Amino acid sequence: MAFNDSWNRRTFLGTLGALVGTIFSGRKAFAFPGGKAASVSGFGATGNVYEELGVTTVINGQGTMTVLGGSLMRPEVEAAMAMAGRHFVSIPELEVAAGKRIAEMLKLPEGYGALVTSGAAAAMQSGLAGILTGDNPKFIEQLPDLTGMKSEVIIQKSHRNPFDHQLRSTGVKLVVIESRDDLKKAINPQTAMMHFSNFADTEGQIKVEEWVKLAHENQIPAFIDAAADTPPVSHLWDYANMGYDLVAFSGGKAIRGPQCAGLLVGKKDLVAYALLNNSPHEDTLGRSQKVGKEEIVGMVKALESYLKEDHEVLNKEWQRRLDFISGQVTKIPGVTTSFPAPEIANHVPHMHIKWDSARIALTPREATTALRSGKPSVVLSSGEHGEALSMNSFMLQPGEEKIIARELVKVLKSHAA
Ligand SMILES: *Cc1c(COP(=O)(O)O)cnc(C)c1O
Repeated sequence: MAFNDSWNRRTFLGTLGALVGTIFSGRKAFAFPGGKAASVSGFGATGNVYEELGVTTVINGQGTMTVLGGSLMRPEVEAAMAMAGRHFVSIPELEVAAGKRIAEMLKLPEGYGALVTSGAAAAMQSGLAGILTGDNPKFIEQLPDLTGMKSEVIIQKSHRNPFDHQLRSTGVKLVVIESRDDLKKAINPQTAMMHFSNFADTEGQIKVEEWVKLAHENQIPAFIDAAADTPPVSHLWDYANMGYDLVAFSGGKAIRGPQCAGLLVGKKDLVAYALLNNSPHEDTLGRSQKVGKEEIVGMVKALESYLKEDHEVLNKEWQRRLDFISGQVTKIPGVTTSFPAPEIANHVPHMHIKWDSARIALTPREATTALRSGKPSVVLSSGEHGEALSMNSFMLQPGEEKIIARELVKVLKSHAA
């Protein structure tokens, strides 16, 4: 063991140290455009690979959006991923070992395990696939042809969302219900699973605790999509403790793990069946959702770091950034701000910015367009219906709140009467 440890450490400080050093200095150069990364020549030599490709980087005041790259990994996650990339291993063995470590870190209840997937969407697809097939090799090869298997998943109408495509991809039919009475009528021998979208909890007639209770009264496994539902960090184990059979999380959102990683937490047998339906196993539905050794290891590290973080301090810093921007923009006559934090998903400080349209001739949508096409480019949201300028600050890099305040003041003032 001692030999192994020192060998590993030496490997890290030697060849790998150089590689990690490159990543870190690359980061630095990236933060200060124009700086040179030490040991990369050719592509990446400037330290800004995006600029070299002619792709504009943006200041992200919108949050953990996959379309903007999700979140930025912590340096120690990048380092762990680089270490993972130095050796060959059995991926199924690594998946099981990483899942065991994650289950211990999260102090999951007895009988629960975890699996690193390529994202929460992949966790939904392979989790359901596992419920449908069990460990039957014929069924696993057969999906999405459901002959011989159960074929229906029950979901509340207000819980439908674009990500239920991942459920439908297994071949199941979604049975949409609204009331408890509808649910009673919908349950039949073909019902494979009852699905809950956690962000929609307040909208459905049946709430999160009752949903799992009703599922279990009818011997049906319950799945909860909690992809963007950390913070609070306790959500990582709350739904397992509530009894949900399977829970999906994104790795590349607030947890700041690898962008192409997610987590399936659940009953050990179901988690094992999910892995059988996933890469590296061939002739499976999930073979297209490959998760690499780097992502698996990176996810373990990201969770370790995330659990150690002082979430109260972070929350205060996120609020301070918004308060700073608010202080600057509300100096403009007619501009007001408010702070409505979402209850469940993306539960972090948010800010709405509104203005008197008689004083400032600009719609929120026009404001986001102007900010996005500015230099530097700033991404804020204008709400689903363009009702107000909306932003959060948990994905901002140090100092970017000052740039957002400056750009916002510029755009608003240029349209003031
Ligand atoms: C982001 C998200 C997903 C997909 O997660 P990935 O990790 O990007 O695959 C699924 N459901 C909800 C509600 C989400 O917000």
